[in-house]
Amino acid sequence: MGLDDKLVRKKLEVLLKDEVLVEKYLRVFGPRLDMNNINKLKQETQRAGAPEGSMGDKDDPTYQIKVKCPICNQADIICYELKAKSLTTTPDKFLVPRYGGVKPFRTINYSLYSVTVCPSCLFASPDKRDFVTFSVQARTENKSQLSPFVLEELRKRVEDRKKIVTAPDFAAYFKHPRSPESGMASYKLAIHRTLVEASLETPLAWYKAGMYTLKIALIQRDIGRDDTDSLKEAVKYFANSFKASELKQPELEYQLVYLLSTLFLRIEDQTQCQLYMGVLEKWKSELTKAAKDDPSITTAHVDRWIDKTKELWTDREQPDLWKH
Ligand SMILES: [Zn+2]
Repeated sequence: MGLDDKLVRKKLEVLLKDEVLVEKYLRVFGPRLDMNNINKLKQETQRAGAPEGSMGDKDDPTYQIKVKCPICNQADIICYELKAKSLTTTPDKFLVPRYGGVKPFRTINYSLYSVTVCPSCLFASPDKRDFVTFSVQARTENKSQLSPFVLEELRKRVEDRKKIVTAPDFAAYFKHPRSPESGMASYKLAIHRTLVEASLETPLAWYKAGMYTLKIALIQRDIGRDDTDSLKEAVKYFANSFKASELKQPELEYQLVYLLSTLFLRIEDQTQCQLYMGVLEKWKSELTKAAKDDPSITTAHVDRWIDKTKELWTDREQPDLWKH
């Protein structure tokens, strides 16, 4: 983007006072300032009530963008993104965020909204980069970040996805606001996608399947349901992730082992819990040894996760430990 383009964008931001409208202006009229076009867009927006790419109400913490399905090419799928600094997040014991409102925004459970679902073939992901997106400034289409092999496999599995959701009208079922049921179904579809990715040895696929399952567990707890089966399912995915050593980043691997240890504690398998605590301790002693030759090596990261597991272990008899 050239200097002039940047200037036009800045002026548009002042005149339109709406990030999504600025994007729309640039898409439709290009980087040229024209008051007639600005007024035209403003009038259209007022007439339409809720415009395309809407920023929503002032107190709505989400805004909408449109994406295209990389499997069936369904266009204009609405994806709900969070406005900057519109919600606070507090992680539960399994590191799943709970959302709180920040004035002037209202509180919503973004976990219900975060997975975008194609209403035609039920391809689903909370990461918009898995879809085909549009770069407004460059006026180009960005391909899905998923590999062609994964996309091909997902193309063959449309019928499997339709068995996961038995709603008569997918578009209506996944519209917003979503019920806890459709929120959980959206994550089940996203898990289906990651399992296809895992079958083709895509890095992070098992880990994502585990994290999505923990989202379902939190929704279940929120509506007063037992989440044990979901937690056991998450354990299975995380254990596969650990076995496959798919993460390749020590910091993420400590977190994975923390999750395994914590989940085993929650599902009352203390032997397995201690086993994973032992993995963290082993890594720590390896780092301590390595640090003798290389002072730049530190155990700070692994210590953080060891402390967290120890804390939970100490509190394990507390009756309200998992009520969060
Ligand atoms: Zn589709």
